[in-house]
Amino acid sequence: MSESVSQAQKSDHPWIYLNDSFIPSRQNVFPVTTQAFNYGTGVFEGIRAYINTSGEQLNIFRLDEHLERLLQSAKILHLHGLPNAEELKKITIKLLQKNNPQENCYIRPIAFKQDLLPDAGFGVKLSGIRTGLTIYSLNMHAYAKQDGLRCTITSWRRIADSAIPARAKITGSYVNSALATETAQRNGFDEALMLNSHGNLAESTTSNVFIIKRGRLITPPLSAHILEGITRDTVIILAKRYLNLSVEERDILPSELLSADECFLCGTGMEITPVSQIDHHLTHSMKLNSISLKIRSLYAQVVRGELEEFNHWLTPVPSIEE
Ligand code: PMP
Repeated sequence: MSESVSQAQKSDHPWIYLNDSFIPSRQNVFPVTTQAFNYGTGVFEGIRAYINTSGEQLNIFRLDEHLERLLQSAKILHLHGLPNAEELKKITIKLLQKNNPQENCYIRPIAFKQDLLPDAGFGVKLSGIRTGLTIYSLNMHAYAKQDGLRCTITSWRRIADSAIPARAKITGSYVNSALATETAQRNGFDEALMLNSHGNLAESTTSNVFIIKRGRLITPPLSAHILEGITRDTVIILAKRYLNLSVEERDILPSELLSADECFLCGTGMEITPVSQIDHHLTHSMKLNSISLKIRSLYAQVVRGELEEFNHWLTPVPSIEE
């Protein structure tokens, strides 16, 4: 994963948005005193845009939902004075028009605590600090391993909602994800599955988790200290509509996870990625006709505009001449 992401980052787009202006991405230099750099006090989103099946149109997938979550996360961190959802949408489209990508890409808005206002004293806080906003984009294809992930249940617990709000995508909380990923990979696995402080399954490091048991699709509830994933929501809707499966949102104990028939991860970056192994237990996720593979293929169709009834999830980026 890290290698392909770093390859993607080599093809950064030429323009970024920073505090009301579009500037060349080479210029994005922040002072070392930037509050979010010191304390992790920023919120962000990860959004993907896909070229449609006929190869003519770039569409941003579920942009409205991502921007709504960005603003909700911002509210929790008292990041005031941001553009509203409609304005953010226009800025995002304009950025992609300027960058004019010819392939699938990734969009990263970050709203953050920038610098102390004149009368604010030094320290860790959320008030008396100017809000900054940046959006950058880069080319990005599928980076997750396609032939089945090998996951481990990590000993790093998912941060409790009472410590850092789980439903907000806060930059600082990703230390938790980074530690879990690093440990899992050093131990020879691809990804980590994280339990919450109650010992139930929460999510993976940057994606939500589903298991399948006797044909039933099960995922941890929002009360399991998880991020309310937009891909998770997409899976629930597609499974119901096309596979006639209802989803049980309920706590999952590690023993149930280890005895699952199938398991997959889902997230904007991760897309739908079947898990072939959990610690030393093998799953059927990669078997022909598995539910995980069916959901992966439905997701690939919806993001490319092949499921017409869900085309309202796609925001087209008009070519600049229009
Ligand atoms: N959980 C965490 C911790 C994440 O970082 C992500 C990625 N945003 C997800 C779940 C999946 O969320 P989404 O489907 O909205 O990308």
